[in-house]
Amino acid sequence: MPSRRDEAFVLVRYPFRERDFVVVLLTRASGQVRVVARRARSLRSSRASATEPLAHVRVSYFERPGSELGTLDEAEVIRSAFPLAADPPAWAAGQVVAELALIYCPPGQKAEPSFRLVDRCLACLLDGHDAATVAWYAELWFLRLAGVFPELDRCGVCGVSLAEGETTFDPVEKRFVCSDHRPARSVERISAAGARWLQAASRLPLERVTEPAPADAGGWLVALREGFTEREVRSWKYLRHLLAGG
Ligand SMILES: [Zn+2]
Repeated sequence: MPSRRDEAFVLVRYPFRERDFVVVLLTRASGQVRVVARRARSLRSSRASATEPLAHVRVSYFERPGSELGTLDEAEVIRSAFPLAADPPAWAAGQVVAELALIYCPPGQKAEPSFRLVDRCLACLLDGHDAATVAWYAELWFLRLAGVFPELDRCGVCGVSLAEGETTFDPVEKRFVCSDHRPARSVERISAAGARWLQAASRLPLERVTEPAPADAGGWLVALREGFTEREVRSWKYLRHLLAGG
């Protein structure tokens, strides 16, 4: 059985049998991959640290024909996310990023841009970038990579440029609209500050986005993701709790 070599992020791991973990990886070449890490639950195992959540690792693994669960052969840490454990909001934001990657990157589909997004987000968290900003940036960019992020600066009906300022979103057709094409049914409004944040985060590298999404823009991102994926991101609850000073 040939083994595959790849670079990966550990998205999550679960105890499995007595001494093993099931590890869910986001690999550079093959997207989401699930492997069993044998005897990794032993404290002395080098696989224990190489399968820590959010770690960037170099792995080799065997695939079993007809099975979604491969077997981890070797794992070596490229960059540990362990320092985030000392900073709960940063750790929670990392969990949001990992959970989004789980939702958006199904097994068996190459997801190189998502791999690079996760890499950028974790690197920024390790550099001390604002935790909520990283989580919101990931929300926006996973939607963009999935191809479901509407154009922000043009009317989705006629294509006319939309003036800066408050914008109007049609939640049924999922597009921004000009005043001429505002539907009669209810619409969502995004404040000028919210629209500015969405514009900036769509255009700038994460390092240059220094503020978290304003509440209305954040709520809009979550509604768009929930509408598209039908999934809730549970780690947000923990992050919000920490950010509220809990
Ligand atoms: Zn229009």
